[in-house]
Amino acid sequence: MKGEKKKKIVKSIRVDADKCNGCRACEVVCSAFHAEPRYSSNNPARSRIRVICDPLKDIYIPVHAGGYSAAECMGRDKYVIDGKEYEECSFCRASCPSRDAFKEPDSGLPLKCDMCESDPDLSEPLCVQWCLNDALIYEEREEEVEEEETPEDLERGLEALANKYGLQELMVTLARMSMSKKGENFKAKHEA
Ligand code: SF4
Ligand code: SF4
Repeated sequence: MKGEKKKKIVKSIRVDADKCNGCRACEVVCSAFHAEPRYSSNNPARSRIRVICDPLKDIYIPVHAGGYSAAECMGRDKYVIDGKEYEECSFCRASCPSRDAFKEPDSGLPLKCDMCESDPDLSEPLCVQWCLNDALIYEEREEEVEEEETPEDLERGLEALANKYGLQELMVTLARMSMSKKGENFKAKHEA
């Protein structure tokens, strides 16, 4: 219930960009793990981690997909770290309208890192396991948090579809799918 305190394990992946060599093994294994059926294909465009590569400047930055953003930022800062210049977007985890990163290539739906949620749980997320350079470090900590109602993945996905096709079109399609499902259930019941 909202306002109640509860213990929660917070999972995170610390990135040591200095150790990343841009091999992109993390992208391969992430996209394969999330393929349907699992491991049936791999396509880095479907990965929930992307490695921003600029080999001429020796820049490799692994970034995990975070939340969905309906609007792009108004301003873009630049950062100079150890003499290398980075665009603000390089560190950004959002699936946003200004770039292709973190969007499912066929549907355009936002992608989000789910820490390789599976049953049974993995000992560590796969991108961490596959990073032989230790650029990705898995960490867990316990936190007391206030339970709050947050938009779930379904809501986020529906919002993206509504933005893309319009709310009216989405509602009509859902109503049509619902009618067709009811028809299938009815048929199955009366044929059994
Ligand atoms: S697997 Fe590790 S070293 Fe290779 S690109 Fe990913 S983070 Fe970088
Ligand atoms: S933790 Fe799992 S889901 Fe997230 S980026 Fe790594 S491999 Fe992909």
